[in-house]
Amino acid sequence: MRPWTAQRWPAQPQGEKAPAWLLDTKRTPGTALVPEKEPEDVSAGPRHPVLCRRCAHVVSDAALKAEVDGKVTHARLNPAGVLFVFDCFGDAPGCTVHGAPTTEAAWFAGCAWQYAHCGRCGAHLGWRFSGAHSFFGLVSERVVEE
Ligand SMILES: [Zn+2]
Repeated sequence: MRPWTAQRWPAQPQGEKAPAWLLDTKRTPGTALVPEKEPEDVSAGPRHPVLCRRCAHVVSDAALKAEVDGKVTHARLNPAGVLFVFDCFGDAPGCTVHGAPTTEAAWFAGCAWQYAHCGRCGAHLGWRFSGAHSFFGLVSERVVEE
C-alpha cells in the first residue's frame, strides 16, 4: 500500500462512530441515498404511457386497454363515412370529455358516447362510451404508445 493512501481520506475522529451512510455497505459510491426500490403499486404493472400525438400529453396507459365485444381494436364508420380505427381503454385520465352523452349513431349497443379530447392541447382523440359498458375509444393514429 502506498504510504499516502490513508491520508487521502478524512481521519475518523477517535471514539466517534462513523455516520450511518458510511457503514451502509449496500450503497454504491456516487449514488444518492434513495430507497433501493420505489414502492410499487402491484396492481398497475409496468407503465406504457399512451400519449397525444400532437402534444405528447399522457392520456392513458397501454395497461388500461380493455376488450369490448371481444376485442380491443375496433374500426367504425361515422355517419359521414369516415373510418376510425381505435383501441378501447378502461380509462383515459388525461382526456377531457365534452358534450352530453348521446346514443345517436351509436357504435356499441346500449352505449352512449361523448367526445374525448386531449386534456392539454384539446385535440380530438376519440370518445368516451358509457351505459352497457364504460370505456374510452382512442383513435390509433391520434395517439402514440411509448
Ligand atoms: Zn394533446
